[in-house]
Amino acid sequence: MNPAPLVPSFGYYLARTRIAYFSMEVALRAEMHTYSGGLGGLAGDTARSAADLDLPMIFVTLISRQGYLRQEIGHDGQQIEHPDPWEPKQFALPLRAKIAIPIEGREVWIRPWLYLVHSTLQHRVPVLLLDTDLPENQPEDRQITDRLYGPGDAYRLKQEIVLGIGGMRILEALGFDIRVYHLNEGHAALLGLDLLRRHARLADEKTPDAIRYDTARVRERCVFTTHTPVAAGHDRFPYDLVSRLLGDYIDIAQLRLLAGEDDLNMTLLALNLSGYVNGVASRHAETAARMFPGYRVRSITNGVHLPTWTHLAFAKLFNRQFPSWVVEPELMVRADQLSDSEVWTAHTEAKADLISLVRARTHVRLSPELPILGFARRMTAYKRPDLLFADLARLVAISQQHPFQVVFAGKAHPADNAGRQFIQDIHRHVERLKGKVTVAFLPGYNIELARTLVAGTDVWLNTPVPPMEASGTSGMKAALNGGLNLSVLDGWWVEACIEGVTGWAIGDDRPDHVPSAGALYDKLAVSVLPLYYRDRTKWIWMMKQAISKVASCFNTQRMMRRYVVEAYLAGLR
Ligand SMILES: *Cc1c(COP(=O)(O)O)cnc(C)c1O
Repeated sequence: MNPAPLVPSFGYYLARTRIAYFSMEVALRAEMHTYSGGLGGLAGDTARSAADLDLPMIFVTLISRQGYLRQEIGHDGQQIEHPDPWEPKQFALPLRAKIAIPIEGREVWIRPWLYLVHSTLQHRVPVLLLDTDLPENQPEDRQITDRLYGPGDAYRLKQEIVLGIGGMRILEALGFDIRVYHLNEGHAALLGLDLLRRHARLADEKTPDAIRYDTARVRERCVFTTHTPVAAGHDRFPYDLVSRLLGDYIDIAQLRLLAGEDDLNMTLLALNLSGYVNGVASRHAETAARMFPGYRVRSITNGVHLPTWTHLAFAKLFNRQFPSWVVEPELMVRADQLSDSEVWTAHTEAKADLISLVRARTHVRLSPELPILGFARRMTAYKRPDLLFADLARLVAISQQHPFQVVFAGKAHPADNAGRQFIQDIHRHVERLKGKVTVAFLPGYNIELARTLVAGTDVWLNTPVPPMEASGTSGMKAALNGGLNLSVLDGWWVEACIEGVTGWAIGDDRPDHVPSAGALYDKLAVSVLPLYYRDRTKWIWMMKQAISKVASCFNTQRMMRRYVVEAYLAGLR
């Protein structure tokens, strides 16, 4: 693909744009390292669907010149982290506008770069990538927009100041008339404070009543999507740090009323300044409402951008059967009528691509005859990447009856020691299982690798500790390509799983029940693998059920239509 043409008529976007979507990460394309995982993937798919629907939106994120991390696996199976730089000028256009905001008593200058998301339907949506690497700035401030989720509280807070307050001011400086601000996770919540300053009554005393009055006006304009059902996942900053970085700008006493007594809790701030709060699946909305009593948490379940995640072989099939599937994904409900042989042929092609990729990157040879189990996600404790290996003897026994092979991928955040340990453990298991069960670990999980992986696997495995998986989206990507999910009932899968039809559940759906490895092995040994070998017709029938039921519903086009009507419209009026 060629980079986007860089001569838009900027005035066109200026005149029409009314909704600004803020996200710390956005997965725009594999070569732009402005994302780390699921949150960025969702933001990217949101932008692609916004472009398809020609919505009057703009996206704001950081430029992350040094990326998140490039993953290398050492000889001992350890993750080795490298910077992952990319070249903004290859893909984006630096805008001439520049603004300064005060951080730590200094002026920090920010310049936006413009990237355009192109829809195959001819529409475009602009993205602003905020950059502090300017000669006017002190050396340390030049690095604020370098490392996505870089180390240390101070660095993170500076990034969130640049995103929230900087992003807001840039939009204003460029002349945008924004009515609705959508916060994808709490990172940009400081923008609500900036809005609040504008709406603040001319009153010196900041009583809780006065603040409530002001916030009501801000809340009309802010939409917040929360993604993290664990308290530890929410960004918190000590007030002495906040005061050091933002003391001139913020009234800390007022901030405490909105963001928590003890420290600045970005989720709480976003909750208090947003009129519409969304969880990313219905189970997650329930969990979030329990975590934050007194707040109404709605649920518009996540989706994926169908054309982005559909393998070419399937896209050809869909183009022929449902020519307008990209415009009307609801048509995909008829995918259960596709011919068995065409679905199997398309799957075989996608699987062959995955097998070549694994061979090229790891030298592991997978067989096209054996089912491939795929597990690719952030390596972190609650996702339990090692559950499959809980009982190696049992695993080997299962595979002697019904052979299978496994492909893993995923990065651990550098500060997540348990996550890094999983990667090393998986590599140890790979060695131990050699000659018995073929397991490959693909280093450098990113959206390009994910496309091949989700499309080529037969069974997509997910083993989180409920209710920690807010939604999850990789299982949706697999299902579009006929992949069958074998997953704990959590996140989106609670809504999509029809046992033995769209896939399988591991354990049952009691929210606090944590399914064991035994439940996973039982399902694999009794339901999944025997079906693959003994009743291919029923297997293909399930693939078609998965495609039709998941693609027609769990797509970002449906998601964005709902956001527009249910969340944005109130602020647009
Ligand atoms: C889809 C995707 C994710 C999201 O995975 P889940 O664990 O299902 O939420 C993460 N990383 C990449 C690269 C993806 O493409």
